[in-house]
Amino acid sequence: MATGKIGVTTENIFPVIKKFLYSDHEIFLRELVSNAVDATQKLRTLASFGEYKGELGELRVSVTLDKEAGTLTVSDSGIGMDAGDIEKYINQIAFSGAEEFLKKYKDVANGIIGHFGLGFYSAFMVSKKVVIRSLSYKEGAKAVQWSCDGSPEYTMEETDKAARGTDVILYLDDDSKEFLEQARVDTLLKKYCRFLPVPVISGKEQEWKEGKMVDTDRDNVINATEPLWTRKPADLKDEDYLHFYHELMPGMEDPMFWIHLNVDYPFTLTGILYFPKIKNNLDVRKDRIQLYCNQVYVTDQVEGVVPEFMTLMQGVIDSPDIPLNVSRSYLQADSQVKKISGYISKKVAEKLSAMFKDDRKEYEAKWDDIKIFIEYGMLTDAKFCDQAMKFVLLKDVDGSYFTLEEYKKLTEAGQTDKDGNLIYLYATDVQGQYSYIEAARERGYSVLLMDGQLDPHFIAMLEQKLEKTRLVRVDSDIVDHLIVKAERKESSLTPVQTDILTTVFRSQIPTVEKAEFIVQFEALGAAAAPATVTQNEFMRRMKEMSAMQPGMNFYGELPDSYTLVVNTDQPAVKKITELATAALADKVAPMRSEIESGNEAMTEARRQLSEKKDADDAAKEALQKEISEAEKRVASARSEEEKLEKEYAATQPRVRQVIDLALLGAGLLKGEALGAFIKRSAELME
Ligand code: ADP
Repeated sequence: MATGKIGVTTENIFPVIKKFLYSDHEIFLRELVSNAVDATQKLRTLASFGEYKGELGELRVSVTLDKEAGTLTVSDSGIGMDAGDIEKYINQIAFSGAEEFLKKYKDVANGIIGHFGLGFYSAFMVSKKVVIRSLSYKEGAKAVQWSCDGSPEYTMEETDKAARGTDVILYLDDDSKEFLEQARVDTLLKKYCRFLPVPVISGKEQEWKEGKMVDTDRDNVINATEPLWTRKPADLKDEDYLHFYHELMPGMEDPMFWIHLNVDYPFTLTGILYFPKIKNNLDVRKDRIQLYCNQVYVTDQVEGVVPEFMTLMQGVIDSPDIPLNVSRSYLQADSQVKKISGYISKKVAEKLSAMFKDDRKEYEAKWDDIKIFIEYGMLTDAKFCDQAMKFVLLKDVDGSYFTLEEYKKLTEAGQTDKDGNLIYLYATDVQGQYSYIEAARERGYSVLLMDGQLDPHFIAMLEQKLEKTRLVRVDSDIVDHLIVKAERKESSLTPVQTDILTTVFRSQIPTVEKAEFIVQFEALGAAAAPATVTQNEFMRRMKEMSAMQPGMNFYGELPDSYTLVVNTDQPAVKKITELATAALADKVAPMRSEIESGNEAMTEARRQLSEKKDADDAAKEALQKEISEAEKRVASARSEEEKLEKEYAATQPRVRQVIDLALLGAGLLKGEALGAFIKRSAELME
């Protein structure tokens, strides 16, 4: 029997390993099963080169539990190891790896310790003693048994093992007895080993018998050895992909489509990514793509490895080239990872582009479900955005779809304003903005539907990307001003009429919660609506954006600002104007002349004051007094005038009716005001 000291300088590294990797203890099983699978694959390779001529036999890896002995054993019939191999691979390589590992990670927090590179010695995280019994595939090899109790001392001796391969026997620590439970071990194996390329056996298959689950005599195989992503796309049918999807993501609806990734230069990567139906709901979950390394499960936290927007997708990625034992921030800066991420993004763009070109109809049918994904990608990934400019679609309120280029062609002639800006009109709510949409359509304008969760950002992005193009919501101005084609037509009101009507209308606007109104008069033609409520595009967008970004509350606090645009050409408004002029013009004339003379006096006094800068204080004071008296006169005349106008307005149901119609069109007439409107409408019909 040989004894020896493992080549480490640290006196006893095992307690450190245990402490360090506490939260990740369970991965020992993945490491040992992976080693067993590797040993099996190596034997297969040797056999295929003719270097191993013996029987391969049934190549499987098994995990067996012995509760009485307190052991968990991982067995394989792979290449095995002789004494020399153990000396080299286990005593030197594995343990020097352990030491290096600890040096590297001595100072970093537990959490960032990655998923790989722990290897054989991770067995000591859960064991008080580890025994290896192995028979090498080499002709004439002698079976050996190696044993180590967690100190750097080990023993190695010849033993009697007849079957080729290796058993790694773990004498589990008292606080790791959970790994003697079949169910616990099966769960772990299903998590980490589900797609390993060699059958992994754990316990027996079970079945219902007389009211309980009992073991059958069939071995329980944990894994599918040929997962779909390792097979050739040409050999696979849609059903295969769907079946695999449901296995991976139980309980989900069918995905819309998928991408089979397969690259071997300049890095190796395979995988299948599925597009779930996302609809309008941006539910970014970071655990829907599983990362594998040569079919060994690593993690479902893939931030940094795939572009952010792709975390909306589901599926698997398998690559031995992603460095896994490093922190996330390192991962994001790694150039290999950047290449991989870029590659995936490009593949996704290509797939979408192909779908768009191959079957436009089908693509359009899927659009509503993939729109948010594509917009998310365009907003967060510049390269993807460039590619997506060709296949992103705009949808109009009638449900027709256009590419950016098509839409430009469609609207260029009719929707370019006098300054050469192309104006795209959009609605966010077909029902709520119906009257505005109709007004725009009557002009022959096209109206887009932008009701997606990301559309406010997407709109801002389009304006940046598209030359001389602005997007304007249909209710942000009266239709004549949405796309300004000529200089504005002045309203036909005299200044007196404007003054009178402004107060008449403003005083009749009902209170709308968190809203502010200004009144404007425009000559919009007899056929246009008597009045329209519009909402300033800039303010609205600022508010929408701030609602989405916590901490940018300034705009969010402000009331919504609306404009009541009254059409002075419209017959009902004309009538209101005539009646109000007749009723009020003479009455307010004295006040108006009082205001006028007051204003004149004020201006004159101010002029004198500024000229006589160096006059004595008494003279200045006299002028100041004149000014403040004139101010008072103006204010009191104005309030007197307004009082008359308000009193008059209150007797004019038609004014209120015109306002309410406009509010109704904007969806702002509610509650008591709506009740009053209905009542008044009935009365006016009499
Ligand atoms: P790694 O697997 O990353 O090389 P390990 O510490 O897990 O590191 O293992 C060290 C070496 O020990 C392996 O490379 C392999 O040569 C050998 N080894 C480990 N387990 C087995 C096994 N079950 N059968 C044959 N060789 C093994």
